[in-house]
Amino acid sequence: MTLKIEHLTGGYTGIPVIKDINLEIKPGQALGLIGLNGAGKSTTIKHVLGLLRPQKGKIELNDVVLTQQPTKFKKQVAYIPETPVLYPELTLKEHLELTILSYGLDEKKAWERAHELLKMFRLDDKLDWLPIHFSKGMRQKVMIVSAFLADTSLLVIDEPFTGLDPLAVANLIDLIKKAIADQKMVLMTTHVLADAQLAISNYAVLNNGTIEIVGSLDEIRSHYGLKPDDPFDK
Ligand code: ATP
Repeated sequence: MTLKIEHLTGGYTGIPVIKDINLEIKPGQALGLIGLNGAGKSTTIKHVLGLLRPQKGKIELNDVVLTQQPTKFKKQVAYIPETPVLYPELTLKEHLELTILSYGLDEKKAWERAHELLKMFRLDDKLDWLPIHFSKGMRQKVMIVSAFLADTSLLVIDEPFTGLDPLAVANLIDLIKKAIADQKMVLMTTHVLADAQLAISNYAVLNNGTIEIVGSLDEIRSHYGLKPDDPFDK
């Protein structure tokens, strides 16, 4: 049971954006992907989600190779995108029904879990709302509820903290910590290290499409000669 990214090279056109990425996440482990704007974090994530095809290398989750069994692979992955993606014509309840259906969840158990998550994010009285009635932060919360409802072995999260209210940030951090304790795998990109480090202790720094170093934030700071209070500019 592992996410293995091996020699991954890829991007949008023929010119690679990420080059020879090697990463491994085991059950109960979380990895933060960090790096400057344009470093290749979202591009790496898009490959893990199967939205881009590798030019070289492979991505394997629990012995399922993404390019060989994409449907089986994707059923093991839940995703919280940076920009929420909702169907304008579906209510919150219908969005969650879709999650339950597409991940093949037990309906009764899933709805119990959904109600806990909805309550946590103050959405429990909004089941019949359409996306047009939700603020951006509320839409983000719908994506969070849906991803944690899916209860997959890998959770992929793209820059989750910006735009969420402080209570939602705290709840999200608790959910990530619980997922790690429950032996899930978490891959998350972020610039907000103050929040991220409350849940995640291991980070990979991407620079210009390649991984420069993997380690704790202290190890990374010392690698770049940064002092604890220096702004993180890598
Ligand atoms: P940020 O912190 O700003 O989210 P990032 O590390 O996630 O940055 P990416 O979005 O992966 O960076 O971008 C990496 C490179 O890929 C950049 O040079 C960017 O211009 C390019 N890129 C991103 N999206 C596309 C696209 N749809 N088509 C072509 N090139 C793209």
